[in-house]
Amino acid sequence: MARYIFITGGVVSSLGKGLMAASLAALLQARGYRVRIRKFDPYLNVDPGTMSPYQHGEVYVTDDGAETDLDLGHYERFTGVASRQSDNITSGRIYKTIIERERRGDYLGATVQVIPHVTDAIKAFARAETDDLDFVLCEIGGTVGDIESLPFIESIRQLKNEVGRGNAISVHVTLVPYIAAAGELKTKPTQHSVRELAALGVQPDVLVCRCEKPLPVSERAKIALFCNVPESAVIPALDAASIYAVPLQYHAEGLDSEVLRAFGITPSSPPELSRWQEIVDRLQHPEGEVTVGVVGKYVGLQDAYKSLNEALVHGGIANRVKVNVRWIDAELFEHDDEEIVSQLEPLDAILVPGAFGERGAEGKIKSVRFAREREIPYFGICFGMQMACIEGARDLAGIAEASSTEFGPTEQPVVGLITEWMGRDGLEQREAQGDMGGTMRLGAYDATLAGNSVVASIYGDTHISERHRHRYEVNTGYREALEKGGLVFSGMSPDGTLPEIVERPDHPWFVGVQFHPELKSKPFDPHPLFASFIEAAVKQSRLV
Ligand code: GLN
Repeated sequence: MARYIFITGGVVSSLGKGLMAASLAALLQARGYRVRIRKFDPYLNVDPGTMSPYQHGEVYVTDDGAETDLDLGHYERFTGVASRQSDNITSGRIYKTIIERERRGDYLGATVQVIPHVTDAIKAFARAETDDLDFVLCEIGGTVGDIESLPFIESIRQLKNEVGRGNAISVHVTLVPYIAAAGELKTKPTQHSVRELAALGVQPDVLVCRCEKPLPVSERAKIALFCNVPESAVIPALDAASIYAVPLQYHAEGLDSEVLRAFGITPSSPPELSRWQEIVDRLQHPEGEVTVGVVGKYVGLQDAYKSLNEALVHGGIANRVKVNVRWIDAELFEHDDEEIVSQLEPLDAILVPGAFGERGAEGKIKSVRFAREREIPYFGICFGMQMACIEGARDLAGIAEASSTEFGPTEQPVVGLITEWMGRDGLEQREAQGDMGGTMRLGAYDATLAGNSVVASIYGDTHISERHRHRYEVNTGYREALEKGGLVFSGMSPDGTLPEIVERPDHPWFVGVQFHPELKSKPFDPHPLFASFIEAAVKQSRLV
């Protein structure tokens, strides 16, 4: 049977709970255990698909087409275990299921209540599909004390009893703030947070204490005494230079051995951490640097492009260079051509990422043109591919009115709504006026690459599978015109109906993809497109 590790957060949000969970899973994996991480989100949205990236950061898409919390991206990047729909649950989804059952009469006249119905549903989610695992790590979103998270904490309490004490532990992540005026680290917020958790029936087994300064032995002892854990189970967690240094740092502080000890497991050998040491070594000792401009919309909040940022870092790891990412607001370019030159000229490469809606689109199209004409490496992802096609149509195929139906009715729909495609369970069809949520082509789909294409040589393969999240597609009716303008359709869906990749073979590096390769990149396995794009940026940096 799988063992459970429940991870909660106290005092404040943004303590890096997700990163802690991902790092702990990576450390357990490095000891040979099979792991899976799950996220419980207490909010009432059914999934984060309809939430603004400004509110919630990026929406992470899984192979099976779920729109999930961005923490699942960390989990996957740190463990290499592909996340699934069943790894992310929200209160909204739980209530939706329960209310649907209630309407069907499945509860046979019973009063439907938080305990046991909601808590049973939470427990069932935690325990589903765990047969082949050694450890299931369950991260509870939010902070202990939030009203929304109460049913989740109660479920942990019940589950700990059900699976037996030796089979479930609780790890609580807290803050030990430094008060500059007093010159001291303060343990009181941690004490209160643990007390609050204990009052709900969950005594933490391990405490992870985020602090800006090293935690003195005396404070560690104090936390242990007041919070009812052994001193060795108080794990200090200082900020790290890179998120990829976090697993090694937690290992050095004894996190993984403390967790095993809490389960009564004595490890026979140390974990195999060479993969992480190699990554940290490459990050700490780069042999050069490049600057990549990301021309986007949500540039004020980097969490909106979390996976993209990480995939660029991975491209740097692959090439042993530091990647400086410059986030550029596409709207700056709408009416100011001088701004384009001053912002884009110094860059070694330009990337236009995924986006929704018209705002900034013309600025992105101008960025594509700049990259194409100046022969600067260009990478268009999803919306960025669509803009590359509109740019090519307008400038090289003589279709001045080329546009996307996403921006309103147009005579020249070079990009149009997808109304039909082969889904995983048969033909999918869409109405132009459908619901907002869940109407996209989502998740992993195969693509077939032309044998002699640039992308086939980058992938080293002509059959690939990548994750999608889009409603619009490049209209194959314009293929011939675009190809005459030098933009080659080098990747298509296996049935030949949906364009997946376009490229300009006569350009140093110009690739547009309809999918999101950043979602599958890992620090120990950088995505080939990002590795190749950064390699092109390195070449470009040597030209100037
Ligand atoms: N808005 C575009 C579409 O729906 C692009 C989506 C994206 O970039 N993820 O097709």
